[in-house]
Amino acid sequence: MTRHTPPRPVDVEGLFPELVPLRREAVRLHPRAGDPSFRDSSVGGPLLWPADAPWPVCAEEHEDMGYGAPPEDGASLVPVVQVHREDAPGVPFPEGRDLLQVLWCPFEHGEFAYPLPRVYWRAADAVGPVRATPPAPSGAPPDSVPDPCAVHPERVTEYPGRDLPPELFRALRERFDRLEADTGLEYEYHLAEAPGIKLGGYPGWTQDPVWPDCASCGQRMEHLLTVASWEYGGDSWRTWLPAEDRAVVDGEEAPRPGRGRPVREAAGLMLGDAGGVYVFECRSCPGRPVGHWFDCS
Ligand SMILES: [Zn+2]
Ligand SMILES: [Zn+2]
Repeated sequence: MTRHTPPRPVDVEGLFPELVPLRREAVRLHPRAGDPSFRDSSVGGPLLWPADAPWPVCAEEHEDMGYGAPPEDGASLVPVVQVHREDAPGVPFPEGRDLLQVLWCPFEHGEFAYPLPRVYWRAADAVGPVRATPPAPSGAPPDSVPDPCAVHPERVTEYPGRDLPPELFRALRERFDRLEADTGLEYEYHLAEAPGIKLGGYPGWTQDPVWPDCASCGQRMEHLLTVASWEYGGDSWRTWLPAEDRAVVDGEEAPRPGRGRPVREAAGLMLGDAGGVYVFECRSCPGRPVGHWFDCS
């Protein structure tokens, strides 16, 4: 069953008609603790993976991060997101594919110590016997291994926050300030882009945008997936918390420590300091090359 983000508390496009051409649709996945099967759309759940395809492993070297020695012969990737096309309205799947699978290596890579994502597009019907999803590799940092969650996909409308062009921000700033003075609503946190794990729309950056270019054609890639540590940060729950989850904050100025955790931190992720992993793709080049970025607050 889907979750329902409340209607915007103000008429965003009426107040800021300049944003209309920048409107985008995203699919919030709303992961919540669950016991998904390999057939289900999920976050951190088992995957519909063909028995005759090897499970992907990461061949990079890994630091011992204090959770036990990392495997020496390659680390099994862990499932991050599996989504059927019917659960991702508006997301452009490749021709003939109806299942998106994103995995990552949960160890630290590169100068920013990020998990390394990989993207697979499948035809679900073409998967015969299913390979059992292996456990997370020994020594993997638990903060980077999503706990199994059922998803409750919901399509929402977004406007750019950190991706707002600077000249447009300057043009709107006075109206943003007036809105905040009148209503307490901050455009960037309460009205722009949805927080949490989502497909499409604008990346849920916690720092300034870094859009990768495609190595083949040089064009800026498209945003495919944001994996945020939390379903909402700060007080963005005021406008982005689904109606079905209101009970975790109702009657309070802010959720008490721990009280909102089943909603805010259902997947048990802590990527850096409550940051996110952003997955991009080039839809013009054959095979849809993938790019990624990682940031934290
Ligand atoms: Zn790795
Ligand atoms: Zn390209």
